[in-house]
Amino acid sequence: ILPEIHGDVRLENVSFGYEADRPALRGINLDIKAGLSVALVGHTGSGKSTIVNLLCRFYDTVEGRVLLDGIDVRDVTIESLRSQIGIVLQDTFIFSGTIRDNIRYGRPGATDAEIEATARSVRAHDFIMDLPNGYDTEVEERGNALSVGQRQLLSFARALLANPRILVLDEATASIDTETELRIQEALATLLKGRTSFIVAHRLSTIRHADRIVVLDHGEIVDQGNHDEL
Ligand code: ATP
Ligand code: MG
Repeated sequence: ILPEIHGDVRLENVSFGYEADRPALRGINLDIKAGLSVALVGHTGSGKSTIVNLLCRFYDTVEGRVLLDGIDVRDVTIESLRSQIGIVLQDTFIFSGTIRDNIRYGRPGATDAEIEATARSVRAHDFIMDLPNGYDTEVEERGNALSVGQRQLLSFARALLANPRILVLDEATASIDTETELRIQEALATLLKGRTSFIVAHRLSTIRHADRIVVLDHGEIVDQGNHDEL
């Protein structure tokens, strides 16, 4: 079982391929101190999502080591590992039920007051209150009644409520209006505070705010540094 971690993340000479003889990652070395945010950038197919997959241990056939607080992710149970990693994927997962249920999924024991406070802090409260039944509004699995930006804010609320040490985020690529963009950036800052985060970043504003930008190309790190250095 993975004990409660601070959130140091280390990849040591990590190589991985989904298929034999087709490496998706080659010799990746990364050392991220707890609390820092990392933006992963690079062309399509460069390996960004693969890094994220390996942090969550979606695959076991990895060469090298993936370490959290110095502990190899292969030495702990998947359950205890994933309880400390929050995942916000590109295609945000909304299930059929109320808005409240969808946020509470992050922490099943959360009270209504905690849910609302969380929604407020990621700036989702206002749009929720504009829905026909507020927090009790029923949404469908595809979440079609919600915009991309609204779904993103809802998933931020869910992740914040779960309060994981490490956050992994595959940023939505769909275009959103400027006001929502601004709101998402503010919400993101709240969400990232005090935890280690890996963001597959598509927006320049996200990249600019990262502590470390890691540039991937054909499965290798070709550059890294902060926004001023690159
Ligand atoms: P994108 O910006 O398009 O999301 P990415 O940087 O996230 O790209 P990855 O998904 O990490 O890229 O893919 C890295 C390589 O691994 C690519 O060559 C891709 O074709 C391959 N790959 C990714 N997922 C799989 C899979 N499930 N099975 C086989 N090959 C895969
Ligand atoms: Mg990807």
